[in-house]
Amino acid sequence: MDILKAVHLKKYYGSGESLVKAVDDVSFGIEKGSFTAIVGTSGSGKTTLLNLIGGLDFADAGEVIIDGHSIMEMSKEELTVFRRRHIGFVFQNYNLISVQNVYKNIVLPIRLDGRKPDRDYIAQICGQLGIEGKMDRYPNQLSGGQQQRVSIARAIAAKPAVLLADEPTGNLDTRTSTEVMGLLKMTSREFNQTIIMITHDDAIAQLADRVIHIEDGKLVREQEVQA
Ligand code: ADP
Ligand code: MG
Repeated sequence: MDILKAVHLKKYYGSGESLVKAVDDVSFGIEKGSFTAIVGTSGSGKTTLLNLIGGLDFADAGEVIIDGHSIMEMSKEELTVFRRRHIGFVFQNYNLISVQNVYKNIVLPIRLDGRKPDRDYIAQICGQLGIEGKMDRYPNQLSGGQQQRVSIARAIAAKPAVLLADEPTGNLDTRTSTEVMGLLKMTSREFNQTIIMITHDDAIAQLADRVIHIEDGKLVREQEVQA
């Protein structure tokens, strides 16, 4: 079953001579529990595409269906709530709250949604990510790799239908990037978590199960990665 579907998505910027087709008629389906990388050079439209499928930006045309819901038909308010309940985000810069400790950062999206954190589940996630001993620390007391583990824990603790990651290893050295990729893969398997990650780095992309290549806003090739 496809947990997410992008259907003829389009997003253009500017007009005339300065027209940029950032996302140009892109369609794909994402299977529940799969780990997909979207790879392309800088400026190929990756962030625009991820923002469209995550409901952070509006498409000019096309449709995004997540867990059976068409997000284009939602009002801004409905979309905000939908995003909080169904989509987890991981960013290059971690986006942790510096004045809150690790545990509070992890449960923040759940609290914002008025839900009660599932402590056992969070302990299990943090154990798997190797940050169980860091709950009282503040983000600036952690390395980049550790901060990214916290942001992954925060994203999956809310049990989203899809986790979207924009260049999650962009600020990390090669060794830490490979570790973080291993953890994303483990997360996908262990928690049946659907993950879509974008990267400009083909070597990083090849660590996912499936790779979608984009160029100039167009999907040009799809590839299954052999385990
Ligand atoms: P990537 O993430 O692959 O580097 P982006 O999605 O950020 O690519 O950008 C794709 C193209 O769209 C680029 O040419 C970029 O300059 C353009 N673009 C992105 N956002 C805007 C914007 N808000 N206004 C105008 N052009 C934009
Ligand atoms: Mg980008």
